[in-house]
Amino acid sequence: MSASKKCPHCGQWSGWQQNPTDRCEHCQGLLDPGAFDRQQAQVARQAEEKKHFTVDFIQINHNDPPFTKFYKSIGLGFQLAFVSIVSFILWLLALLAG
Ligand SMILES: [Zn+2]
Repeated sequence: MSASKKCPHCGQWSGWQQNPTDRCEHCQGLLDPGAFDRQQAQVARQAEEKKHFTVDFIQINHNDPPFTKFYKSIGLGFQLAFVSIVSFILWLLALLAG
């Protein structure tokens, strides 16, 4: 599907694939700067969320002493429980928002 859009920068009509990254054939300006900004903002937000909810899981080594293994596995259990709860809340929010 091809469409054309009037370039907001130079006023010429240009082929438009309805992608936020489409550029004017005449001046190389973005045909839909608003959509491009929204897409950039969305990408940035997703990266930010991923950073917040990425938990560094405890690594249990084979040569750890038994006691270290024991408390590390408890810590890991808490981490897994925490991640499950956070994922559940995110899923619930997505469900409610949708
Ligand atoms: Zn243009």
